[in-house]
Amino acid sequence: MTVKQKIPQDFLDDLIARNDIVEWISERISLKRSGSNWHGKCPFHQEKSPSFSVSQTKQFYYCFGCKAAGNIIQFIMEYHHYTFLETVELLANAHGLSMPTLTGGKQENHQEDWALMQAIAKAYQQQLNKAPKPMEYLIARGLSNTTIKAFQLGFAPDEWRFVLNRFAKDPSNMKRLITLGMAIEKKNSIYDRFRGRIMFPIINHKGQVIAFGGRVLNQETPKYLNSPETPLFHKSDELFGLYHVRKQTQKISKILVVEGYMDVIALANHGIHYAVATLGTAITPGHLKKLLRQCDTIYFCFDGDLAGHTAAWKALTTALPHCHDGTHIFFSFLPEKEDPDSFVNQHGKDSFEEHLDKSLPLSTFFMEKLYQNHPPTSLDNKASLAKEAATYLKQMPEGIFKSLLYKSLSENVNISVEELKNPQAQPTQSRQPRPRMRPASQTKSSPIRQIITLLLHYPSIASKLNIDALSNDTTPGIPQLKHLMQILEKSPKIKSTGALLQHIEDPTFKKQLSQLAGQLIFTQGDEAAALAQALINQYLQSKIKHTIQGLIRRAEQGLLSSEEKSKLQQLITQQKKQN
Ligand SMILES: [Zn+2]
Repeated sequence: MTVKQKIPQDFLDDLIARNDIVEWISERISLKRSGSNWHGKCPFHQEKSPSFSVSQTKQFYYCFGCKAAGNIIQFIMEYHHYTFLETVELLANAHGLSMPTLTGGKQENHQEDWALMQAIAKAYQQQLNKAPKPMEYLIARGLSNTTIKAFQLGFAPDEWRFVLNRFAKDPSNMKRLITLGMAIEKKNSIYDRFRGRIMFPIINHKGQVIAFGGRVLNQETPKYLNSPETPLFHKSDELFGLYHVRKQTQKISKILVVEGYMDVIALANHGIHYAVATLGTAITPGHLKKLLRQCDTIYFCFDGDLAGHTAAWKALTTALPHCHDGTHIFFSFLPEKEDPDSFVNQHGKDSFEEHLDKSLPLSTFFMEKLYQNHPPTSLDNKASLAKEAATYLKQMPEGIFKSLLYKSLSENVNISVEELKNPQAQPTQSRQPRPRMRPASQTKSSPIRQIITLLLHYPSIASKLNIDALSNDTTPGIPQLKHLMQILEKSPKIKSTGALLQHIEDPTFKKQLSQLAGQLIFTQGDEAAALAQALINQYLQSKIKHTIQGLIRRAEQGLLSSEEKSKLQQLITQQKKQN
């Protein structure tokens, strides 16, 4: 696990202040001005009439349709599927700011590690040119010189100290080679991990060599050997070939995920430059996020056998939570005993792509698989089908795609969507209107909630508010209010909703605040500070009133201690003064 690295808050404040949210969003979707706000069609859900609004003064966006909300950083992250760090880098570069030193996590500097790995890759490449056998093997597999060079293929001679003799003259490098998985230390002897193998450098998306895969030339086992997990190489995050895809393609429209690196290389050799492979693991959520940051269309290719189908189902369940509207995921199954490498070599590029065109969309594969598991021939089977489907669908993000899947399932098993979503509910109950809580927008907001809303909209009023009287109060909402006030006291430079939200670390609280800010994006007002202070006083008064009422009730029952009596006296005086 990587330690969470933190960008200094000052830097983020500055970044949000310099990057106008309207400018960034209007470069990506078309926005129309109305007053101080801008409106357009939401990029996060499909819609016919615009319900997406952006406020320049608040530096905040909100969608009344899907409730997407946030500041410029959230927008870029969601829109481009970027990581937080990638987003910050993008916004910083736009203003020529250099990235700050990260705090929090360990200060990691891998420059020397990368340089060393790159040098080793080069040494392996030189060996390939000198060794006839491995070169013959690659040529026999049909690889062109261009492909061999593009993937920087090399050869590790069958020696115990090829890498060590060349790169471990300095004892600190010896340690480094062990840490990077290139050398093994066992019972006081140290030797190279990779010997007598064709070497496939594993290159991260920035083009840095972070690990190797090695394949034997003969029948020895293991046939393939990968670097272990190292500070540079986290197997479950990396995709072999992604750098190649990014280098080859200006605008990536689709990515194909295959199982082995020879598959990626064989496909590229035939002109299919959009394939990547996991490195001996099933697809992980990390992989998927990385892929969806590149493009919206992902193809998974599996063997046609049972193992292939099992792996495909696993990929599907990993993918579901990431299936936003606009994401397209397909599953392709090759004929039995074929892999992409053998298939493309035998049938060529066009046949392979034709086969890919016949892939199953995620929804079809999902339904087919569920029907196989629970043939809907009996009521019992239908019920278990519905139950299994619901557990998976629940994990999907809200959107049209999810609704369509529910609808299609509902039609097929003849159970209403509502019952699918809520299997405990009895059918008779679910058809009757049930008493409901009033939706939040209709309930009269508590004074504390209103104050929080005002602070969200007008962060600068914080300096004019006095909440000292709330210091010992732990009523729900007050700790949150105090938290906001503390942030604004510490960073008086915060001028917009968007900037304030960037200071909230707790994701649940951040989400609540974003929704609150969004619902009221159109509110205007000059007397926000006075209103907020009046609300604080109103809250304090009602609190006194409640305490007095409680004490009077106890007095009527003859339970009042002398201490409580004087408190009651004191409160009544206080109340009179305030009125
Ligand atoms: Zn939306």
